[in-house]
Amino acid sequence: MAQRSVNGTARGGDEATTEVLISGGGMVGLTLGIALAGAGVDVVVLEPRDPAASTDAAFDGRSSAIARGTQRLLAALGIWPGMAAAAEPILDIRVSDGRIGSAASRLFLHYGRDERAKEPDEPMGYIVENRAIRTALHARAAEMPTLRFMVPERLTNLERGTGTAPAEATLSNGQHLRARLVVAAEGRGSPLRAAAGIRMTAWDYPQSGIVCTVAHEAPHHGVAHEHFLPAGPFALLPMTDGADGGHRSSLVWTERRTLVPAMLALDDAAFGAELQRRFGDSLGALRPAGRRWSYPLSLMHAERYIDHRLALVGDAAHGIHPITGQGLNLGLRDVAALAETVVEARRLGLDPGEANVLARYQQWRRFDNTVLMITTDGLNRLFSNDLAPLRLARDVGLAAVNRLPPLKRLFMQHAMGLVGDLPRLIRGQAL
Ligand SMILES: Cc1cc2nc3c(=O)[nH]c(=O)nc-3n(C[C@H](O)[C@H](O)[C@H](O)COP(=O)(O)OP(=O)(O)OC[C@H]3O[C@@H](n4cnc5c(N)ncnc54)[C@H](O)[C@@H]3O)c2cc1C
Repeated sequence: MAQRSVNGTARGGDEATTEVLISGGGMVGLTLGIALAGAGVDVVVLEPRDPAASTDAAFDGRSSAIARGTQRLLAALGIWPGMAAAAEPILDIRVSDGRIGSAASRLFLHYGRDERAKEPDEPMGYIVENRAIRTALHARAAEMPTLRFMVPERLTNLERGTGTAPAEATLSNGQHLRARLVVAAEGRGSPLRAAAGIRMTAWDYPQSGIVCTVAHEAPHHGVAHEHFLPAGPFALLPMTDGADGGHRSSLVWTERRTLVPAMLALDDAAFGAELQRRFGDSLGALRPAGRRWSYPLSLMHAERYIDHRLALVGDAAHGIHPITGQGLNLGLRDVAALAETVVEARRLGLDPGEANVLARYQQWRRFDNTVLMITTDGLNRLFSNDLAPLRLARDVGLAAVNRLPPLKRLFMQHAMGLVGDLPRLIRGQAL
């Protein structure tokens, strides 16, 4: 396929220079490009996949839970208007514990109107299909004069050099590019991270996430359900109604990895029956709508997020279990922190790839990411089993949290991404 630049024409020749070069134009990398370009920074984003393929229904069946803080960032960057029509507000969250074929435990955690009392018009978050997020990002990127989104394109060589010299990149089209800062936003298998010799703490869960859209008879009323089963959490998250007016939710069903191929091979009726056995009939009859996907689940964390003239963001730096729907949210918080750090350095006349500037970014993000990583791992271990004492402890724990409004609100503030030293974009402010 011919190399092209979605926005503007790539500059040719050996002298081409940019301030920031981002390798990876997924949801995290492209948002960073838009954030920096919006502040007047000259940015190049390289993405090996064609945008048309990555927004096709057959490419990614996932939807993402977008926390309130993330929504503010997307709005501040002018990305949100392009996806708002595809975003379903989360008004209630119901967490329950159960077994296959039996009703959910009566002891459950409920987040609803009380937790929204201070801002009753504001939902706790939104559910948006990933392809709608990508479509909005591509449209916004095309409006940014200082952003060059080069697709399909990738690095073939990178010399990060030493001292004050810029990094020297070679692209697959043969073009050479100099940059003050290179950002790896290449997802979990980041080649730039590996080339920098940054080690990972990583382990596989014996689970996969089965993902698809589920059509159901009754409306969901904006309720997100998380039902803990012995194999792991079974979540049905409210989506906008389909084009035919039918009610839809997004399924994220964590199951033992060995069982997943058999579940995926079921016909729609049998798969729908398995959903019903696990979820019950509160939304009426359930049936899968469209294709099903599965994702092997793992945890990984880079030992550091920076190296000489290099910063890692998003899944290139950390990958977590989807139990709390926070992976993308964490990546976009990295974006907010790195963009703010770079823009402030620039205002002070500093080199954005300088060690002190990058150290500030790392210090800002590592703690938040580590806390969430430990929390999601602990929750998965606590809930993904059927041991009687643990079942009792977690049911009593859920019920106790449910009866303690301050603790409950604190958990919710965390889930909404509104706790800690918040970057300006997460507060909804311009850089
Ligand atoms: C089942 C499941 C459900 C999830 N649900 C949620 C949720 O509800 N909420 C949430 O916040 N998160 C969720 N997540 C996590 C979320 O999907 C990820 O955290 C997010 O996609 C990470 O985005 P990213 O841009 O960092 O990485 P990726 O999405 O992996 O994107 C990386 C990009 O880099 C490109 N690339 C790859 N190699 C190269 C290369 N060599 N050079 C240049 N570019 C390259 C790729 O083509 C891609 O575009 C879920 C994850 C799973 C598995």
